[in-house]
Amino acid sequence: MLQTVSRAFFQVLAGSRMLKTLASRYGMRARGGFARRFIAGERIEEAIETAREIERNGLLVTLDYLGESVASIAAADAATRAYIGVLERIADAAIERNISLKLTQLGLTIDRATCVDNLRRILDAATAKEFFVRIDMEDSPFTAVTLEVFETMWQQGYRNVGVVLQSYLPRSEADAARMNALGARVRLVKGAYNEPKDAAYQSKADVDAAFVRIMQLLLANGTYPAIATHDPAMIDRTREFAEARGIDASKYEFQMLFGIRRDLQNSLIREGLRVRVYVPFGREWFPYFMRRLGERPANIGFVVRGVLSER
Ligand SMILES: Cc1cc2nc3c(=O)[nH]c(=O)nc-3n(C[C@H](O)[C@H](O)[C@H](O)COP(=O)(O)OP(=O)(O)OC[C@H]3O[C@@H](n4cnc5c(N)ncnc54)[C@H](O)[C@@H]3O)c2cc1C
Repeated sequence: MLQTVSRAFFQVLAGSRMLKTLASRYGMRARGGFARRFIAGERIEEAIETAREIERNGLLVTLDYLGESVASIAAADAATRAYIGVLERIADAAIERNISLKLTQLGLTIDRATCVDNLRRILDAATAKEFFVRIDMEDSPFTAVTLEVFETMWQQGYRNVGVVLQSYLPRSEADAARMNALGARVRLVKGAYNEPKDAAYQSKADVDAAFVRIMQLLLANGTYPAIATHDPAMIDRTREFAEARGIDASKYEFQMLFGIRRDLQNSLIREGLRVRVYVPFGREWFPYFMRRLGERPANIGFVVRGVLSER
């Protein structure tokens, strides 16, 4: 309940231009910028440097060039070209070839066909360079269309692409079965958006119970699923299920966000489990940052400290 209120509050704040301007001024300062806790930087060089350090510690990475809900076809085209440039930079840097992106960044809110074309351009470049591309899942008005676009790509023969399912959506269990039947790679998350009662479970207990059910479906019948959570209870349930079923640790991976529970990331690695860190970067970091605050209002403390220490 508290989390729902907090998410709604931070979602409203995320729409504030004044706050965005203020955050842009302080958030990404080279030293002490408060947004740097969750964002690797505004430039690809900073993301690559961060990814290298993460890889040196034995973890895997996926890079997300931040952006969402672009307002014009020209902006969607620019984001697509920028992503293709990012692929080249990652390949040159010889870090792992794995990216995450959002369909509204490629124009989904403006025109579906344009978005599909843009995604295809990225997947073609990614195929040529042997990248894996994860399509992040956004808020519930985009769930069905995101899965449809994914399935279109799958039917066209792309296999270097995967999706995300959110356990707060009651529909996700059926979607997981559908993705398993295709042989598609799924990342399971709880869900980060402020959703209405008729679209999503509202209580943590319901979201967690669904997470466990879907995790079991994916581990038992899926293709190299990614269990993306910082919740120790969800991680324990996953490990217990894998052990009980004799599912080897190489058949799935855990995923966590840059800047969250690094202790847990490292301890899982030490125990021989796979952990991938999601590394976001780019100038459009504000909405992503606000979602991280909404998940855990205690995070506001380091923002306030960061701003005060700048003055
Ligand atoms: C790799 C990855 C990719 C994701 N991709 C998507 C996506 O495509 N679509 C989508 O809707 N959501 C996505 N998410 C976000 C996800 O839906 C959740 O909002 C987020 O992971 C928090 O849920 P949790 O599973 O960690 O559990 P929670 O029960 O929310 O948190 C468990 C514990 O994790 C820690 N924690 C969680 N969040 C924070 C935070 N912001 N700051 C500090 N500590 C925190 C706290 O210790 C907390 O007690 C992704 C998450 C990960 C890890």
